[in-house]
Order: sequence, then C-alpha cells, then structure tokens
Amino acid sequence: MAKKPEKKPEFETPVLGDYTEVPAVTPGSMDHSQPFVAKAAINEAIGFPGELVDNWQEVAVTKLGELVDNSRALRVYLDSCVKCGACTDKCHYFLGTGDPNNMPVARQDLLRSVYRRHYTVAGKYLPKLVGAKDLDEEMLDKWYKYFHQCSQCRRCSVYCPYGIDTAEVSMAAREIMDTIGKGQKYCNEIIGKVHKLGNNLGLPEPALADTLEGLEEDVEEEINVKVKFPLDVKGAEVMLVTPSADFFAEPHIDGLIGYGKVFHQAGISWTLSSHASEAANFGLFIGSVDNMKQVAVRIREAALELGVKRIVFGECGHAWRVAYSFLNTLAGPFDFLDSRYPVPQHIIEVTHDLMEQGRLKLDKSANDDKRVTFHDSCNVARASRMGNKPGGQLTLPRDVIKASCNHFFDMPRDTIGEGTFCCGGGGGLLTDDLLELRVKGAKPRMQALKDVHEQHQVTHMAAICAICKSQFSKVLPYYGFEMDQIISVHQLVGDALVFSADA
Ligand code: SF4
Ligand code: SF4
Repeated sequence: MAKKPEKKPEFETPVLGDYTEVPAVTPGSMDHSQPFVAKAAINEAIGFPGELVDNWQEVAVTKLGELVDNSRALRVYLDSCVKCGACTDKCHYFLGTGDPNNMPVARQDLLRSVYRRHYTVAGKYLPKLVGAKDLDEEMLDKWYKYFHQCSQCRRCSVYCPYGIDTAEVSMAAREIMDTIGKGQKYCNEIIGKVHKLGNNLGLPEPALADTLEGLEEDVEEEINVKVKFPLDVKGAEVMLVTPSADFFAEPHIDGLIGYGKVFHQAGISWTLSSHASEAANFGLFIGSVDNMKQVAVRIREAALELGVKRIVFGECGHAWRVAYSFLNTLAGPFDFLDSRYPVPQHIIEVTHDLMEQGRLKLDKSANDDKRVTFHDSCNVARASRMGNKPGGQLTLPRDVIKASCNHFFDMPRDTIGEGTFCCGGGGGLLTDDLLELRVKGAKPRMQALKDVHEQHQVTHMAAICAICKSQFSKVLPYYGFEMDQIISVHQLVGDALVFSADA
C-alpha cells in the first residue's frame, strides 16, 4: 500500500494513532507558513492595487468598516464571541499543527482585535482592557499567514454555540488584504485566468475540443459505445458546468466520463461550453463579490448563447456552494430555463433522479474490486442542499454510491456529514507553497480513513469535489496510502452502467 511521495518532505508528516488526539499547543509552529504574494500584474488583472498601497493601514481600516456596515452577520460574528472555547479543537489545521493561531477563536481574534480598536468605544479608549490592537506590520503579517491557514470549511461554526462563522471572517480579512494590494498569488492568478480564458487551467477552446474528442475515442475503445462529450452545441437540453480539472487528470476525468455515460444512457442531450468551461469560482475564497459575479455571469452568457434549458454542475464542492447559494443572485434571473428543474442542478441530483425513475441500468458488481467510503466535502455538506429533503446533500451522494457498488462503509460519525473534516486543501490553499499545511491539515481525515481501512478493509474514498480529489491525490502517499485511492463518485457510476452493444 505504501507509495512514497516523489520528493522527501522538509517537514514531519503527522503520525496517525488509534484516534485523533488534541495536540499539545505549540505556539508559532506554523508561523513560517505563508503562500506566495501575488505580483502587481496578477492583482491588477482582477481589479486590485498591484502592490501594498502607501496608506495601507488607513485603507484597510476603512474597508473593515465598510464590510461590517454591509454585513450584519460579520458584525455579529465579531461582537458576539464569549471565548467559551468550544471551537478550539475543531479545526483540522489546529489538530494537525498544534499552532494556537489555528484555533478558530484565535484566528478570528486577529481581525476582531483590529475591529475592536477602531469600531468599538471601549477599544478606542481602553484598548488593552478589551484586547483591541492596531493594524501594524506585525499584525498584517499574521493576517496574511493565518488567514491563509483557514480553508473556510466552516466546521468550527457547527460547534460554536453562537454559530460564529470563521470562514466569513477569513474571507473578510482576505478581501481587505486584496484591497490594500497584498493579494495571494494562487487564487488571484486563477481568477484572472477565468476572466481571460474561461477556466482555472487557462485551457483555450481548441485544447478543450481536442481533449473531448480524445475522450470520445478512449471511451468508445473501452466500451464500444459512442458516448459523446459535446462542446458548444446550440440547442442542447443541458449545459454542464464542471471544474476544469475534469478535462485532464485522474481521478477527475473518470468523473467526467461518468457524467457523459449517464447523459448518454438517459438520452439527455447535453453540452459543455468553452465560454463557461469552469465551475470553480475562486472569487468566494478571496471574499470578492465583484470577481464572483464576473465568473458567474459567464455561465449565464453561455446558457443564453447556447439556448439550453437546464444548467447542471459537475463534481466541485465550493462551486456547488456558489451555484446553490448565490448563482441566481449573482447572474439571475434564469427565467429562460425550463422551470420544471431547479436552477442550478447538481449532477448527483440528476443521476439520483434518473436512478429513481429506473432510467439507468447498473451492475453494482462491476465495482466489486473496491470497498468504498465517502468523503463529504465541506462546502457541500455545510453550505448547500441537494434534492428536496433536508440533508439531501449528505444522503443523495451516498444513495448514488450504494446504487453503484456493493461494498460501502462510512467513516466514523463525528468525521462525516455536518461534522466532516476538510481535506486540508480547500479555500484557495491547494498550492504547493502551502504543502506542509495541506499535509498536516489532512491528518483528521487520514485518521478516519485509516479507521475504516482497518475495520472494513476500505480500499477507496469517493468524493464530489475537484479540490478534495486533487488534495488527496497529493497527500494520501504521505500517510502511506496510494494516490489513486481517491476516486470520483461518477467514476463508480460510469463503471457500473451497463450498455447493450447497440446503445
Ligand atoms: S473555517 Fe475550517 S479551517 Fe477555518 S478556522 Fe474554522 S475549522 Fe479551521
Ligand atoms: S465556540 Fe464560538 S463563542 Fe466559543 S470561543 Fe469559539 S467562536 Fe467564540
């Protein structure tokens, strides 16, 4: 089972024990971790100052005031923490690193202390008494480091008696940093690529067309059925918007093959779009509504241009959060679509409906070589819904998996569902300059995987998020697993679908 990482890591991979222990507090243990700062051209391409502006303190404090004025939720989050400590051991980055600044309450306090200094009476006159602090260079440095050690997964908010959402605090801090010209390279570069070319990978239309053509040939060779992967087909019923990772790498591409097979067997005409060739919306991670909107509007434009009736999202966690919660606000109204279907719809919902209608022919034994568990992706589990019943975002993917394979085992209860642990690479942190954080932050999930591996001989973990899949491909070997033990849910579906020779 043990496949070593390609390069020896310059840090110690956490050791997995019998259960997840709360680590000893080790102040400053992740103080060296920070992502690359974006260069001027990258920041400017998405509407921010290229470099740190001269009066950055003043601009940052003003921006903070605007944010709390515009978001009552943010103000409540900053005002209402009672320091009960319930969140302290709930963050995977604290559990993996022991750095006290990775306790959610301490992370929030980095912003809260500046808010108190400038926007509360007590903080203005008695700062030391209420923990109010100035935004100086040292504080900005801490913001940059520790708000890029939060994957905005919202696990901590589930356990907070006041529902304080650290993800919102983290997004606000990142937005302020972008506003003063201290943006993060990975996120900002990707957003710029989507604005320019339509997807995170910067794949132009001809490359996309080539890839899809090659995929059609591969699938036909394998199953002797002409499954189409259409691009820019006007008048198709469904436009599929999927993470661009699905176009080129395993395990993602196996998911795309699965979607294609589902549409093919159900006789639903569908198309991808070269204009909206990306489901991901990294505007969320940097808290920028303007950038989120620009990315989302491409989807509306593509749907109108192609004249489709439905918009379906592929397997991508935060993309589904943005789509489910914000797409209609950012880019609606979608009154030109077929009103019999939700706008938007998730591919899991589509497949689930087709299964219920008996329109998919599945042979579960095709996956008998696998014993499968399911990783709930944070943004799906805690920030969205699926289907028309509460909790559908947790039950529908499991129903689809169980209809596609014979051996399914859930990980321990406190690590799944609403309490799911982040993969360690979400929230704009899926970059190699944060590899140590990613490996250490994956510890609680790896512990849970080890548990089901030992108890039920689980061989594969399925997921419905491109970031989770990429993150696990990278970090599984650090913990002694194989990188290909992470798979797409629609790979299981695609492999189980039975086609007759003339299909
Ligand atoms: S949102 Fe997630 S990553 Fe951020 S502090 Fe909370 S548990 Fe940690
Ligand atoms: S659980 Fe909520 S109220 Fe308690 S310390 Fe954490 S953020 Fe503050």
